[in-house]
Amino acid sequence: MGESFVIGMDLGGTNLRVAGVGAGGGIVELYREQTLAREGPEPVIERIVAAIGRVSSRVTAAGGSVRGVVLGAPGIISSRKGTVVASPNLPGWHDVPLRDRVAAAIGLPVLLENDANAAAFGEYWRGAGEGCASMVLLTLGTGVGGGLVLGGELWRGADGMAGEIGHITVEPGGRTCRCGNAGCLETYASATGIVDRYRELAGIEESVTAEEVHRRAHEGDANARQSYREAGRSLGLAFATLVNLLNPERIVIGGGVLPAWDLFMPAAEHEMRRRAFAAPAASVRLAPAALGDLAGVTGAAGLLWRELAPTGIAND
Ligand SMILES: [Zn+2]
Repeated sequence: MGESFVIGMDLGGTNLRVAGVGAGGGIVELYREQTLAREGPEPVIERIVAAIGRVSSRVTAAGGSVRGVVLGAPGIISSRKGTVVASPNLPGWHDVPLRDRVAAAIGLPVLLENDANAAAFGEYWRGAGEGCASMVLLTLGTGVGGGLVLGGELWRGADGMAGEIGHITVEPGGRTCRCGNAGCLETYASATGIVDRYRELAGIEESVTAEEVHRRAHEGDANARQSYREAGRSLGLAFATLVNLLNPERIVIGGGVLPAWDLFMPAAEHEMRRRAFAAPAASVRLAPAALGDLAGVTGAAGLLWRELAPTGIAND
């Protein structure tokens, strides 16, 4: 008999990734295409079903079997109902029963999970959180995403909304966030926030990319370096809260801002140690994410592997 796989999907506003994931976390038949989210739910659901069908048939053609599918999707997700309630990255999606639509089309068991939660579970299972029992993932990209794994379990909260670390208030009365609150971490520590602060400091009107600000910081531009330090300080405020609240073993940082680690992390660590209790601040390890853009597909599949073999994926 051939090897068994779970198919993991990571649906983003820009890219759709689907892959077969073995019980040990190994990836086969990785398939990517553009989401083309602007076309609305129906064409995207068709692309998802086709992509899963393609990966599934390649897995079976190679002698493997598919145990089920786990869909990671962005936005407000009801895992219990299997619906995408709403999503800033998926225009036109309101209460879309994605789990049941995909299950009906492919005839396999399907689960639906928030994409940041799936990524957090992926890093915990086979990435930078491997070997620990409690881990927080922060993804610093266009926004700031997050996920919590506590005592070896994904922590979803009462409404599936846990882990929104990007929306911790770090500056009361600060910048307006897209969530409606003022002073959220995301408005300071995301790539967007870093660029905004750089433009403020440098007094420039024209738009600049995050990559360009990173390049200028490396070349010694004082304003660019300061915008990263300030982002680090905001991040450190959130770390201190996480450390005092959860006493995690690891805080894992991923996302597009990760290559600038040296520019923001010293300030973040300094601020965390200044504010948090000494013991948990000394024991927590701040680690770069290890799985890159495969954390989502890996973690999505890992969630089903855990259900299929609760003792079979001990986190060693
Ligand atoms: Zn917010």
